[in-house]
Amino acid sequence: MAKPLLSVKNLAKHFSLRGGIFAREVDRVHAVDGVSFEIEKGETLGLVGESGCGKSTTGRCVLRLIEPTSGEVTFEGRNVTAMQSDELRALRRDMQIIFQDPFASLNPRMTVGAIISEALIIHKLASSRSEMEDRGASLLRKVGLNPDHMRRYPHEFSGGQRQRIVIARALAVEPKLIVCDEPVSALDVSIQAQVINLLEDLQQEFGLTYLFIAHDLSVVEHISNRVAVMYLGRIVEIAAARDLYVNPLHPYAEALLSAVPIPDPKVKRKRIMLTGDVPNPINPPKGCHFHTRCPIRQMPLCGEKAPELKQAGDGHWVACHLRG
Ligand code: SF4
Repeated sequence: MAKPLLSVKNLAKHFSLRGGIFAREVDRVHAVDGVSFEIEKGETLGLVGESGCGKSTTGRCVLRLIEPTSGEVTFEGRNVTAMQSDELRALRRDMQIIFQDPFASLNPRMTVGAIISEALIIHKLASSRSEMEDRGASLLRKVGLNPDHMRRYPHEFSGGQRQRIVIARALAVEPKLIVCDEPVSALDVSIQAQVINLLEDLQQEFGLTYLFIAHDLSVVEHISNRVAVMYLGRIVEIAAARDLYVNPLHPYAEALLSAVPIPDPKVKRKRIMLTGDVPNPINPPKGCHFHTRCPIRQMPLCGEKAPELKQAGDGHWVACHLRG
């Protein structure tokens, strides 16, 4: 079997909360708490969960934009977590990120041409100004924009167009993996589909691999080959997209799926309403993190022992004492 492009093992990120005159650690936020997954070359893994579940922190730890507390990230067999800064700088060419808010991730004082050229200059990918301009124009065409837009500034574009510029900038360095961190959440619904279709087309053309982060299962349904569902810092279910959407096993995944609209009005899906708020990650519940909101919790073990991810089918894993 081919080795995965990206492998994440027992990744954890705990943020220290400091207080007092000596700024001592007074508490810890358990943002990511032992996450493991792999992504094959050319695959899209959707990573889904409510706000604050740790999915964006996971994406940033994978790229080492923030330092993981523990765990191991391997990219093409190389240990990313052990890399020194010069190796890490070279790795940035292979691993890019697209953020949720395209306006915040573009320098308002730079033209679109300068924004794209900056990436080419940093990685020494163009030897002359004309080569840079040609590459920039070609990238803008690839993302559905007019090459004449090179001389404009980010504020002159709509939200969807700005996200296309961000995608062009990411593509400029010919990456292998892109972490898409809620790339369509800030866009109108009609524009979301266009940007997702664009990402799919670019994946086909350039053989890209995506870690696609979203808070909503409906967003990742069409683009993902597999989907991992996160709750309070842990993956609770991971499966091929078709298996998860047809037969979710974890009660949290079931609840998320019940909120996804079905286009056929004759088909009805019973909505599962979760009660209570997401617990505070400073002091997550003992045992199964979901036990304070679980609609099927049936045994004391749920509040005592954290369930491990267990295989429940071909490539289908679930962390629940009652399922799997
Ligand atoms: Fe619910 Fe218990 Fe399963 Fe957790 S382990 S999801 S509390 S049934």
